Amino acid sequence: MKKQFRAESKKLLDMMIHSIYTNKEIFLRELISNASDALDKLSYESLTNQDMKWEKKELEIRLIPDKEARTLTITDNGIGMTKEELEENLGTIAKSGSELFKENMSDDKNMSIIGQFGVGFYSAFMVSDKVLVSSKSVHSDQAYTWTSTGADGYTIKEGEKEDNGTSITLYLKENTDEEKYDEFLEEFKLEGLIKKYSDYIHYPIRMMVAGTNEKEELEDKTLNSMIPIWQKKKKDVKEEEYNDFYIDKFYDYEKPLRVIQSDIEGLTSYKALLFIPSHAPFDYYSKNFEKGLQLYSRGVLIMDKCSDLLPDHFSFVKGIVDSEDISLNISRETLQDNHKLGIIAKSLETKIRKELTTMLEENRDDYEKFYDDFGMQLKYGIYSSYGMNKETLQDLLLFYSSHDKKYITLKEYIERMIEGQDKIYYACGESLDKIDLLPQVERVKEKYEILYLTNSMDEFVLKSMMNYNSTPFLNISDESLDLDSEEERDALKKSNEESKDMFSIMTDALNKEVEAIQFTHKLKKHPVCLTSKGEVSVEMEKTLKEMPNGEGIKAQTIMEINESHPIAEKLKALYQEENKEELAQYTKILYAQARLIEGLSLDNPTEISNLVCEIMAK
Ligand code: ADP
Repeated sequence: MKKQFRAESKKLLDMMIHSIYTNKEIFLRELISNASDALDKLSYESLTNQDMKWEKKELEIRLIPDKEARTLTITDNGIGMTKEELEENLGTIAKSGSELFKENMSDDKNMSIIGQFGVGFYSAFMVSDKVLVSSKSVHSDQAYTWTSTGADGYTIKEGEKEDNGTSITLYLKENTDEEKYDEFLEEFKLEGLIKKYSDYIHYPIRMMVAGTNEKEELEDKTLNSMIPIWQKKKKDVKEEEYNDFYIDKFYDYEKPLRVIQSDIEGLTSYKALLFIPSHAPFDYYSKNFEKGLQLYSRGVLIMDKCSDLLPDHFSFVKGIVDSEDISLNISRETLQDNHKLGIIAKSLETKIRKELTTMLEENRDDYEKFYDDFGMQLKYGIYSSYGMNKETLQDLLLFYSSHDKKYITLKEYIERMIEGQDKIYYACGESLDKIDLLPQVERVKEKYEILYLTNSMDEFVLKSMMNYNSTPFLNISDESLDLDSEEERDALKKSNEESKDMFSIMTDALNKEVEAIQFTHKLKKHPVCLTSKGEVSVEMEKTLKEMPNGEGIKAQTIMEINESHPIAEKLKALYQEENKEELAQYTKILYAQARLIEGLSLDNPTEISNLVCEIMAK
């Protein structure tokens, strides 16, 4: 007689049968996990129950693919199920599960529900038309066979089975254009799935495979490695073992730069094994890159890339977290234990930061190598959080110094500041050499160390930080830069005042493209430079232009002319002679030069070229 599944089970079953769930392969993980539980139960009972009649045997799980019959059988020699247990366990879903299940039931949620609950056994129907469970409990001499082709119910009959345990036979669905169920009969595929999901199940998972010897006799192969390396004490694991594990597990060709091992006992206990790669993966700075750590609970992989465990600024970290406190039954794919995950994530973030800090302090070469590859991500972490992650990340930043063109930290900069210096000076440009040649750099460099920012993002990062431990940053191309003594300042103010009228004629000649024109003391031997006022610098304008919607954002520029350069006298002379035409020409040429120095293009280069030649020919 056919029995019907209980209501909730039927719904879940329907979903499994008609699953559009992309990750069908997880059925194997679920069945292996059940088998492992059954072995756990047996080994526990054998220790605690004196009356149990059980001949001690090695506990194992076995995969038996049969290509002709198109079946895949998963066996265990564990606790097994009685008739009643088969009925109770496979005819319905565990109570706690079904309660949750009802609350969440709605069609559009199907996808996530499949992931959220430990749907376990029922996932077999994602790949099978028919499932046959043969089981013999250690507490019974009679074996039973449970069979179901899905929605129409199930039957339980007496069956033959020599040893205790459970054997689940899946009659695989026919292949379709999209799905090749046959692949679940391939040794290679099965091995891969075990490695991927169940490698650290602590019982051997075995399969007869074609041997590698001449006769190609079948040989028995254990597919999983069983002992997780992260469960071992750090002192018991050789560096090479960690490196090999990393290379194998995370498909890298180089050993990691650092290995971080962590074993935390507390309200939320976990073990973690993290790696800082020695180089950025090719897709690291692309949209395709997915951050995340592998999450295990008691040797079972729950999630391959759990992104909640890593903040974006440390997204380069690879590794594994194993926590018994993350429940395995609820939510294998989309975790609901977010609170616990949050606690683990926070603690990992601190660990990673400490490791990086130690590397920075004790092995500068390694750190600089790391920074060349991942520094962008740290900077991005500050910028994208509007400075919120500043405290965490600011001491991990490196910038080039004007002193020796080598990397320097902000802390080191502060330590090297001279008496009376109250700002951190920086300059931006395409390359160190180009920055070095900026007219403004010459004088500032004589007095102060300057950070040379060569990455277009750098200035945005400093802007979002505003200051470093309350010392503000100042772009040397900012109009407000002032190296003068009080007297010099007053004198400059005076001469700018006197030439006010001349500057206004000059500004008109440029069609007010600049906010102002003025004399300056910032320059030493160079005649002219372009500075900016307010939030947006010329460098930032260039970067913003490249971004969507950034086109309209402009820097407010000021053309500054070296007061002690002969060109200043020349301009004044032209003004006094009321030679407006030449004054306008000179202004245009000076402005063109200032723009070119800043790496900006000219609106009308032909006009400038003609003007220069006209003057040359005089
Ligand atoms: P879950 O494992 O999440 O409880 P399942 O639907 O996967 O849910 O399994 C239901 C129950 O069936 C299990 O709790 C267990 O009692 C029983 N069961 C499943 N597979 C086996 C097995 N291989 N051996 C013994 N019992 C099993």
